This record gives sequence, structure tokens and C-alpha cells, in this order.
Amino acid sequence: MQSGKMRKQGLNGKRHAGHLPGRAGRTLTEVEVRAGVFRQPVMQTPVLVLNASYEPINICGARRALVLVLKGVARTEEEQGQQLHAARMNMAMPSVIRLLEYRRIPHQTRALSRKNILLRDRNCCQYCEVVLTAAELTLDHVIPRSRGGLSTWENLVACCHDCNRRKGNQMLHELTDMKLKREPRPFTLHTSRHIMRMIGSADAAWRKYLYFEHSEPAA
Ligand SMILES: [Zn+2]
Repeated sequence: MQSGKMRKQGLNGKRHAGHLPGRAGRTLTEVEVRAGVFRQPVMQTPVLVLNASYEPINICGARRALVLVLKGVARTEEEQGQQLHAARMNMAMPSVIRLLEYRRIPHQTRALSRKNILLRDRNCCQYCEVVLTAAELTLDHVIPRSRGGLSTWENLVACCHDCNRRKGNQMLHELTDMKLKREPRPFTLHTSRHIMRMIGSADAAWRKYLYFEHSEPAA
């Protein structure tokens, strides 16, 4: 998951947060992170990020989550059960963190990119429904570019090379044997939350935050 947006918001939040640790504490953290004291495999484990309202908004690496907690931007809500031992501190590794200040999240935060289109379509060819690796998939313009189709969320879908070749420059209504599995839509927060659910399904500590507003069964 791309966390660029979060990163920017986290840094902005630093200026407004009212519970910053002292200057010395913050410097220690940054020096230690940069010096690689935190460079352990556990630092890459995914951490669920909640808004101040407990709404899930992102996933980031444990290292990023620790920095947000140490800067006073977020608080640990659930722990991983592992301790981090550094020169001058002992910290429980977070599994879920919550931002201390509410951030307004725009409805569409995802950049239009190949990676995000494949994420939205879950690496599944939208015509024949075969699931492949990202490298084995291409993007198809539903209305071909040669016929005025634009590169938009609504006109780009994940597609296997076979289907892409078969479709060529034709419009869907000209083909009887090909149709879209589902109508392509922008990658909304709802879609991201769905992906968070899939990623977080292994982590029991995430479940209560990911399902709290929905009663639908787990995928
Ligand atoms: Zn296909």
C-alpha cells in the first residue's frame, strides 16, 4: 500500500500535535532510526493506522508507525507482542496505531497508476477472470485509445495479454465473447478498506477495527 499521503499528513501533524516529546527525545528517535538501530525484520510488519475517530485509514510499516508514536502524532492501540530493544528505550511494537488528531480524508486519495489499477482489480483479468502476477498483467483501455478512450479509473482495467490481444482496437459492444467482469470505478476509500481487510485478515488484532461499521461477513 502506498503511504505517501500518510507520510505527508504525519509530518504536517507534527506541527499541530500538542503532545510532542521534548526536543532531545525527538532527536534521539530520528538519530536511532537513521542509524539503523531499528533495522530489524519486525520493522517491516504492517501496522493498521486509524483516524482519531477509530476509522481505519491506512496501513504502514512498523518502523513508520513507531516514528509516528514517538513523535506524539499517534498512539499505540494494539501491540504485536514483541518488544523493541534499543540503546535507551524499550518499546512494545505496535500492531494498530491511532492518530491523536482527526484528519479529514478526501474520498478519493489514490493516484491513478498501474499498481493501483491492479490492486483495485486484485490482479484479476477483468475479461476472463484469470488471476496472475502483476508482471503477467497489462492494462486495457476499455474504450481503446485509438477510438478516443481516456486513461481514467473508469476506462482502465487489469487484463491478461491473451484478452488484450483478442480485444485489440475493438469496442466491447463489437465483441460477443468478451465482457467486463465488473464496471471499473475509481479507487475509493471503500476499496482501500476492502484491501486492508484482506491484508489484515491474518492479524486478529485488526479485525475489530476493520469490521466495526460493517456487518457483512469476512471475504
Ligand atoms: Zn484475460
